[in-house]
Amino acid sequence: MMMLTRKMIEIRSLLQTIGQSETLTLPSIVVIGSQSSGKSSVLEAIVGHEFLPKGSNMVTRRPIELTLVNTPKAHAEYGEFPALGLGRITDFSHIQKTLTDLNLAVPEKDCVSDDPIQLRIYSPNVPDLSLIDLPGYIQVEAFDQPTELKMKIQELCDKYIQPPNVILAISAADVDLANSTALRASRRVDPRGERTIGVVTKMDLVDPIRGAQILSDKNYPLRLGYVGVVCKIPQESKSLFSRGSANITNLITKNESAYFNAHPEIFGQDSKANVTVGTPALRKKLMHVLESTMSASLKTTSEAIHHELAEASYEFKVQYNERPLSAESYLAESLDVFKHGFKKVQEAFGRTEVREIVKRELDQQVLNLLAQKYWNRPVEDLRPQDPTIESVQEPLESLPKADPENSLWHLKLDASTSTLTKLGIGRLATSVTAQALQSAVEDLIKSTPFASHPFAVSAITQASENILRDLSFDTSDELEICVKPYKYRVEVTDQEWKQGRENIARVLKDELKDCENAFKYVEDQIGGRRKAKDVLTFIDSVRKGDIVLEGTGVGGAGGFSSALLEKGKEALFLRDRADILRMRLAAVKSKQCALPKNKYYCPEVFLDAVADKLTSTADLFLDAELLSKFYYQFPRLLEKWGRELDESTIERFAREDPKIRRHLDVVRRKELLEHVLKEMEGLRQLEAREKRNSSRG
Ligand code: GDP
Repeated sequence: MMMLTRKMIEIRSLLQTIGQSETLTLPSIVVIGSQSSGKSSVLEAIVGHEFLPKGSNMVTRRPIELTLVNTPKAHAEYGEFPALGLGRITDFSHIQKTLTDLNLAVPEKDCVSDDPIQLRIYSPNVPDLSLIDLPGYIQVEAFDQPTELKMKIQELCDKYIQPPNVILAISAADVDLANSTALRASRRVDPRGERTIGVVTKMDLVDPIRGAQILSDKNYPLRLGYVGVVCKIPQESKSLFSRGSANITNLITKNESAYFNAHPEIFGQDSKANVTVGTPALRKKLMHVLESTMSASLKTTSEAIHHELAEASYEFKVQYNERPLSAESYLAESLDVFKHGFKKVQEAFGRTEVREIVKRELDQQVLNLLAQKYWNRPVEDLRPQDPTIESVQEPLESLPKADPENSLWHLKLDASTSTLTKLGIGRLATSVTAQALQSAVEDLIKSTPFASHPFAVSAITQASENILRDLSFDTSDELEICVKPYKYRVEVTDQEWKQGRENIARVLKDELKDCENAFKYVEDQIGGRRKAKDVLTFIDSVRKGDIVLEGTGVGGAGGFSSALLEKGKEALFLRDRADILRMRLAAVKSKQCALPKNKYYCPEVFLDAVADKLTSTADLFLDAELLSKFYYQFPRLLEKWGRELDESTIERFAREDPKIRRHLDVVRRKELLEHVLKEMEGLRQLEAREKRNSSRG
């Protein structure tokens, strides 16, 4: 029953997936022979296709680990390079091209490489076999190639022809066997000829009697014997079949059997010579030999796997405390951690927090508005100011003393209130809140296992962004409608006024502090307090018109460089702003600003109270519309995202983290070795039973 080889080939493929094939060598048939001995022709006759690299240049530079898989039910024949992920290749000339490219990629100076190319061929016409094709031996004299190359090829072949491998030593009939490099190499590692099969090619090139003598060679007796073949594809059919996917087995065997049948007295079944010839016989022999070699190596291979498993289990215990892990479980755990963290975000970010964020933003808007409409002192230039802007700029100091009936004051406050309420509070409040939520999510990601997975970081960030964008769209429009009434009329109660007064005083104080710090910073940049004072005095005099500058002042003035004057202007702006802030702070704190009836004197307090009302509407609305919807949708979307990831993506995700990758590798190696070991035990039992049955029978 030829199933052991097949099972073992499957096991080898499994072991290759965890990079374990180096230590756990399952027996293969290693094909050696000198160049032009007909090695490729024999392999191609077994496979039934031309697929090996050809050319005058030394083309096989890497070992080719060729696995043949018999697929009895399938019609299609195809090859696969598992390490390249090219998928199924049905055109064998494409396989040939790929092999040629892979071989030629080995740099000329390295001559050969011991990194094997793995190729699997699936076909109903091939037996289950595991073969390794090696670079052909070369004769230095015959080819103008360096001695080093000869040595390197020999070393490479020596590495592969070790036990438990079977050696397929190819020699051509027209070369004396005593000169066969393949047989000599095999001799060195298998002196008793126990695991070498001799293949004599080009039998058609010698006299049949001589051919039969070679096959019964007594100088190099081999337990597994010699097989004579004629593997040449008839020249006339070559052009028809050499390309693409046509199977050449029939062609070769027809040609071959025509030759052997022509000499039945020598090669026929009843002949005295009793020699084995023909590719079909060779195939059969290879299958039987490999099967029995596999069987013989079952015990040692099982032991080796046992050993590997013990090491993997030890590592699993010591390094990972036997904590089970799979890519899926890791994703699920990470999602749980994230969701747990998200609950905390939800608890910490409610209406109060929205209120703070929105109010802070509106405070800033109120300050800008005040600066624009009230606190401006628009003399930014070194030239005397434009008299036309006098009226806008003037009322600052006179604000508390102004006539309440003066329509200018009414107009100014109404305009300011209107600007504030028509600022687009809907969009502004929604966007600052959405931004704050987004940063909360991004901060949360950093504290979860997802942090070390760029793929997950971008997916989660994107998911949250998408939801917030969609929600913001409607929310901002609806919020704008909610604040609409304030655009027409705002009433402020005594209590609201009091609160506004306290708040704006605090805001002004903070702003003043910032302003003073900024002033100090610029002062330092100018070169200290004294120098700054000189520069400022100069700019002040120009402003008041005490000094008239010639030209535009480009390139400096008054002994100061233009860069210094620029800094001076910046300092002056800050100093003026600080003066104004101090004065307004005093005004806000003064008795006049204690009650809402004086609102025209105290635009700061009134605008703050308006901002506060807008904030109250916004926080209520955003809490209901943005926050609660986001808190509902986001975890569900994440859950869906996790559920919809396919296996390979989850795998890729988990392996992004080197620590997890190592952990997964150990778990996988252990599981796989356990599985393989179980299979091997099954095979051993089966073998034992078969042996018992056959001994009984
Ligand atoms: P390799 O270098 O060992 O792989 O040898 P190839 O398989 O490429 O064969 C070398 C040459 O020998 C090619 O021209 C083949 O056509 C030819 N050849 C291979 N096998 C036979 C055979 O059985 N009989 C004859 N006459 N020529 C063969």
